[in-house]
Amino acid sequence: MMKNSHSAFLPLLNDLIDLATRQKSIGCPIKVVFDIDSTLFDVSHRICEILRDFAKLPEVLLKYPKEAETLSKLVPDIDDFGVKRTLARHGFVWPSHDFAFQIVSFWKTHFFANTYLHHDKPYMGAKEFVCALFNAGADISYLTGRDVPRMWNGTLESLKQCGFPLDNDHANLVLKPNSDITDVEFKRNYFKQLGGASNPIWFFENEPANIHEVMEHCPHVKIIFVNTVHSESAPPPPDSIERISNYII
Ligand SMILES: [Mg+2]
Repeated sequence: MMKNSHSAFLPLLNDLIDLATRQKSIGCPIKVVFDIDSTLFDVSHRICEILRDFAKLPEVLLKYPKEAETLSKLVPDIDDFGVKRTLARHGFVWPSHDFAFQIVSFWKTHFFANTYLHHDKPYMGAKEFVCALFNAGADISYLTGRDVPRMWNGTLESLKQCGFPLDNDHANLVLKPNSDITDVEFKRNYFKQLGGASNPIWFFENEPANIHEVMEHCPHVKIIFVNTVHSESAPPPPDSIERISNYII
């Protein structure tokens, strides 16, 4: 068997590139579905920029000068998730007062929006891996809990800017039609609607809750748990699920 030349990837990922090549050659390409946030992209820079901009608001500077000073010095950490964990890392006691309400509200408005998405950075090797799969003939889909009205344009722009493959035929983007549907429902329905396709389907995802749901309802989907950061809203996937914590050796 001809080995691919992407030896810097984890062996599991190299195997998948090889499989994509073989399947393409027999006319049965594999489909590989990627979540985006904390699966392909480190979102800690987005979190950090939002919190630093919050600290620049005149009313925040006036009412919470000490907190604003601390926030202005925030630096991103790849293990940050959401606002609470980031603030805890900087010594904020949670929840203390209406400062908590204000900062979470500001963060939610801007995290789930187009405006700050250009701050996201792909994990090392993530873009190269998706490109290698695409070039090997895999069909790529980006399946995200982001929603169309608030995040379509920014998501498209960010993927393009970072060099991820995108076209109408073999690399497409799938966002929630609106924020009413939960991520878990949305992703389960997506895979159910694909049906038990004869082409092998793989799913890269960092959120255990989504993984448990897809495991239960769509057992034909092969899942890779991307063990970066997650919401801790569900127990980790069972050991039978393959896992990676990065893309390269
Ligand atoms: Mg995610």
